[in-house]
Amino acid sequence: MRDGAEIFATLFEQGKGFISATEHLDFSTPSGRAMLGVMQVFNQFEREQTAENIRNKMVSIAAKGLWPTGNPPFGYRRGTKKDNKLYVDPRKSQIVKDIFEMYSNEKYNTVDILTKYRGAIGKSLLFTMLRNRIYLGRMVYAGQEFDGQHDAIISQSLFDIVQRKIPENKNSSRPNAQKYTYLLAGLLKCHCGCSMSPASAKAGRYHYYVCGDIACRNRVKAEAIENAILEQLGNYRSDEKLLDKMEQELIRAKDEFLKQVQPELDCLLTYMLKLVFF
Ligand SMILES: [Zn+2]
Repeated sequence: MRDGAEIFATLFEQGKGFISATEHLDFSTPSGRAMLGVMQVFNQFEREQTAENIRNKMVSIAAKGLWPTGNPPFGYRRGTKKDNKLYVDPRKSQIVKDIFEMYSNEKYNTVDILTKYRGAIGKSLLFTMLRNRIYLGRMVYAGQEFDGQHDAIISQSLFDIVQRKIPENKNSSRPNAQKYTYLLAGLLKCHCGCSMSPASAKAGRYHYYVCGDIACRNRVKAEAIENAILEQLGNYRSDEKLLDKMEQELIRAKDEFLKQVQPELDCLLTYMLKLVFF
């Protein structure tokens, strides 16, 4: 649904100073812009609601072992239009098998594979393919994995051999970045007064808190500041066992709720840190 507010917002962004004849809203005045702001907030809410609904629907399709949407992975094809099941594509699945076998074989290297299948497979697709658990008959969607209704193309043993040879993923999934728990997310303030938020560099291998003020951009190493604060906690409380427990609890709670609403999580952490400090 493309409603009035969205169209007004687009026109406003383009700097047209749009004046609505029907609603008597002049977006060149402060009150007009305030009204536009309200409309945009409602629009954003509705968009997010819709996106959330679509995501839930897709996950529920994947949970049934079916391919939710879009082009199927290389080696599979879809049935008819309304059939979300994946079927093994005879020709392409042979390529997938050959690529897994070549990759597991010491005699060949990546260049050999890319040369052999030039035009069909590029480098990024090659590594996506070699990591894709869909070839085991699994259904993977939005970071979740389910039993697939489709046939496997690759055996578990061959897949395992390939995984041991494959280099660490540097581009797409950034596993280190996702694994790191920022204990002080939402709690740190820069000397300039701005809030500092978590950030990572070098494909998630280094972790920082960075000042939100673009002019300042002060940053501190996450581990250093976290250790310093945990050390301080140790000075405040002589009961080390209790402290260890609380530290573990902080990490556990943080991990558990990480996927839920961040502000609530930050509140919980603030509360728990206050308990220790005061
Ligand atoms: Zn700052």
